[in-house]
Amino acid sequence: MTRNPGVAFVLSIVLAILIALLLAVALAAATPAAPLPPNELGRVMILEYHKIDYPEERWTRTPENFRRDLETLYARRYRLASLGALVERKVTVPAGTTPVVLTFDDSSPGQFRYIEKNGAPVIDPKSGVGILEAFVREHPDFGRAATFYVLPGASRPNRLFDQPEYETRKLRYLVEQGYEIGNHTLWHANLGKYPESTVRAQIGEAQIWIQRHVPDYRTRTIALPHGVYPKETAWALSGTAKGTTYRHDAILMVAGGAAASPFSRNFDPTHLPRIQAVEKDLAYWLGYFEKNPHERFVSDGDVAAITVPTAIRDRLRRDLPRDLRVIER
Ligand SMILES: [Zn+2]
Repeated sequence: MTRNPGVAFVLSIVLAILIALLLAVALAAATPAAPLPPNELGRVMILEYHKIDYPEERWTRTPENFRRDLETLYARRYRLASLGALVERKVTVPAGTTPVVLTFDDSSPGQFRYIEKNGAPVIDPKSGVGILEAFVREHPDFGRAATFYVLPGASRPNRLFDQPEYETRKLRYLVEQGYEIGNHTLWHANLGKYPESTVRAQIGEAQIWIQRHVPDYRTRTIALPHGVYPKETAWALSGTAKGTTYRHDAILMVAGGAAASPFSRNFDPTHLPRIQAVEKDLAYWLGYFEKNPHERFVSDGDVAAITVPTAIRDRLRRDLPRDLRVIER
């Protein structure tokens, strides 16, 4: 068989083109998607976890799935922001990333557990706090923030994570690490059912019972048990009861989807919606923002300025601080 130099030449050209194409595909796969342009009028997810435990159920996320949620959020450029920062409109996540808020309701044991190791208590790496702390250690740029809506006077197993001997240690740990403790009433009272004095006592006493462990700690936000408002919203916001004064900057609901940007006219801190962190709802909202990236809050990385698309500039609220610079793009 004689070799045809013409054919060999054509074959080598084809081969070269194929290799170039394969390289281009490999490179595209390795390069992350183009960064999103800043849009600080976009929406923010406030995620709502209940039990971190087995098996996965309507109100339960397994430790493995919770870890996977953190991985997914991180990979999609979400970074943890505290609720306090959101309400104060001081979102400090890096440029090109989106703040996400984690909340944990009802202080069930799987959220925060100590186990004995060599005779000393250590945080259970399979509990919510253990998983979150490990993830933050591995990815320091993810940020560290979450709000725990605890029940100081509930019956077991929802009373302050269900390890009486570690109650104080846990609440202090949370505060020292920069997490927030939120008000969820003393024992999960349905606030729509009670007169003003009972509503206020439930809220005031929750704060007092928290202060037994963390002196002077004031809850800054309240999550409504069952999502039910008292007859007057003002009762949940501020007042005096049982000898204590409480003041809340935000009231959280149990559902409602992604929240408006804190810079938007639609941001209502007395009706903050949340997304239940269960498989279906998480998948829906993560997919939603993949399909609608322009609706997602994307930070410009500058706390002193907010960057907004010109086309939606009219959504800016009017009561923003005067020294806050507005940049249109
Ligand atoms: Zn609850």
